[in-house]
Amino acid sequence: MFKTVLIANRGEIACRIIRTAKRLGLRTVAVYSEADAQALHVKLADEAHLIGPPPAAQSYLSAEKLIAAAKAARADCIHPGYGFLSENAAFAQSCADARLAFIGPPPSAMLAMGLKDRAKALMEKANVPVVPGYHGEMQEPKFLKQKAYEIGYPVLIKAVAGGGGKGMRRVDRHADFDTALEGAQREAKAAFGDARVLIEKYITAPRHIEMQIFADSHGNAIHLNERDCSLQRRHQKVIEEAPAPGMSASLRAEMGAAAVAAAKACGYVGAGTIEFIADGAGGLKSDGFWFMEMNTRLQVEHPVTEAITGLDLVEWQFQIAAGEKLPLKQDQVPLNGHAVEARLYAEDPERGFLPSTGKLIALQFPSGEGKGLNLRVDTGVAAGDEVTPFYDPMIAKLIAHGRNREQALSVLANALDATIVAGPRSNAGFLAALCRAPEFREGSFDTGFIDGHLEELGASPQGMDKAAAALGARELLTRERSRIAAAAEREADAARSAHISPWDADDGFQLSGPRRQIVPILADGQKATAQVIQERSATAVSIDGIAAASDAVYVLRRGRQTKVAFRDLSLDEGGDGAGGGIVRAPMHGKVLSVLVAEGAEVTRGQRLAIIEAMKMEHTLVAPIDGTVSEVAVAKDDQVAEGAKMILIVAKE
Ligand code: ADP
Ligand code: ADP
Ligand code: MG
Repeated sequence: MFKTVLIANRGEIACRIIRTAKRLGLRTVAVYSEADAQALHVKLADEAHLIGPPPAAQSYLSAEKLIAAAKAARADCIHPGYGFLSENAAFAQSCADARLAFIGPPPSAMLAMGLKDRAKALMEKANVPVVPGYHGEMQEPKFLKQKAYEIGYPVLIKAVAGGGGKGMRRVDRHADFDTALEGAQREAKAAFGDARVLIEKYITAPRHIEMQIFADSHGNAIHLNERDCSLQRRHQKVIEEAPAPGMSASLRAEMGAAAVAAAKACGYVGAGTIEFIADGAGGLKSDGFWFMEMNTRLQVEHPVTEAITGLDLVEWQFQIAAGEKLPLKQDQVPLNGHAVEARLYAEDPERGFLPSTGKLIALQFPSGEGKGLNLRVDTGVAAGDEVTPFYDPMIAKLIAHGRNREQALSVLANALDATIVAGPRSNAGFLAALCRAPEFREGSFDTGFIDGHLEELGASPQGMDKAAAALGARELLTRERSRIAAAAEREADAARSAHISPWDADDGFQLSGPRRQIVPILADGQKATAQVIQERSATAVSIDGIAAASDAVYVLRRGRQTKVAFRDLSLDEGGDGAGGGIVRAPMHGKVLSVLVAEGAEVTRGQRLAIIEAMKMEHTLVAPIDGTVSEVAVAKDDQVAEGAKMILIVAKE
């Protein structure tokens, strides 16, 4: 076995790997960028090394710096986690060259499976069913369009080098193909430095079903059951579960065998996932699933497999990398109960799920302990930490395990209700609504479920939560009163020694307080007036989910956050002045293109600019009809959240 592991990652996955490594008696070495000096994974590890500035390209993606750190720490192995360099064959090779064991598959297997086109060709040879489509060399737009036509709409354009749902576009009509291709290529180029695409038949009523596989270096390979990851948004997993609803033992064996064949075809060693797309119309069936891609690493959603098998997949990864044999035979792999995982993100479901950065004013998770609940929370942040624009804004994963699906979903929904995230917005309320959505509960869903139910799930603008604003105003007043009371106390003390009455002070705030107060407030930046009725002896309001920053309170109701602050009336006049005509950056990001110039006439809804953040593109549109009177940004500019980008003056 190994003695010292360097974890080439951050966040929850780094913490999760450190936990198992410690249990196995390994010394753990963390790496961190300047943005992560105080991060949880740094605190958990036995030793930590600074590897560079915040941008991932200069830190977590720098093979050179990681290997230098591993050498300095005298590590004998590197665990890459997921994301970052986990699927980078050149990095795995560099590790081998530096005599560091890479906790993952051999570089040759990563190369064989790394690009979707090559992987599909290999799978065809191994008789694994693949999604019909075009995955050849030719990339001429005209040729690809012709191929799409031959395959038959709807089709899916995918980046050959894709991952994380990026560089992917569904096309329903021939007329939309060119624009979609351009978008996919641009996104693919930006995210992966490779604009090549393939085209697939879009499977209707698609369900994403993947098999967890494990192979050792002695030629053995098994599967550890499937996971259903059909609840997605933008082709990214939101909720994952195991086993898949409606999966029969015989179909499981069949998909498992296909997955094992896929692993053997590329000479795989270690933990991997074979992703299949299944036609869910009329139930899962043996001629209705196709290979999509292989993820040659540990998966974000591996905990649901751990829950139903009782195994620790990271432990297995270390054992296999150390040359041991698989600990179990296929027929010894357990499958107990049902597990569901939700990815808790710092994002705003009401604003198109925009990532939401900032300091975590409060962060609390329920604990299953002592309540007989089987709940696991994997996180990499704590209250006081910052969600930065540099990395994936995942806050935590909540994993519930139950006797059956019903129970697991209920435990998860309740856990999400009891989760407190203040500061950045989170998708906690949205996830809880998903867990409770009747059709999903009944097991009738496909990958289009979330997009088809956004409103019911609360993922549309809800307007001001007036009850929350009122609670916030009351809390602010209570706090103001105790502050003034404390100040008066101090003055009284001072006055006693100076023989002056404190009541001469003209600050207008009486200790007994008026019973009714009109308070101008800002609720999420929106002007409002709260009428607060105070009890004479105001006791501290204790409402679950109120968190305080220095100048505001955050009220959480049903997973929704409202930030309440006193409104300074003197600032109300002469504000922005331009009414609804200011277009602000919805998030930290980079300007990819500006589509209008000063003086242009625009209509409401017209595209004005594209910004990129978290490797995703966001299009900004005109909020009103009018004339562009100012363009405050240029291509390639970095913009901060809330920064003015474009000003439109309404027509007279
Ligand atoms: P999974 O199938 O496990 O969800 P994804 O493909 O969505 O895996 O990616 C796993 C994680 O890695 C996600 O958090 C994603 O944001 C991140 N990720 C994916 N591709 C990249 C990449 N090229 N560079 C950095 N991080 C990535
Ligand atoms: P990535 O590398 O970004 O994870 P995948 O090829 O795994 O890309 O696809 C991501 C998601 O897109 C899948 O989980 C599925 O929901 C959807 N998808 C992919 N291929 C198809 C298809 N042919 N038909 C319908 N949906 C698909
Ligand atoms: Mg995938």
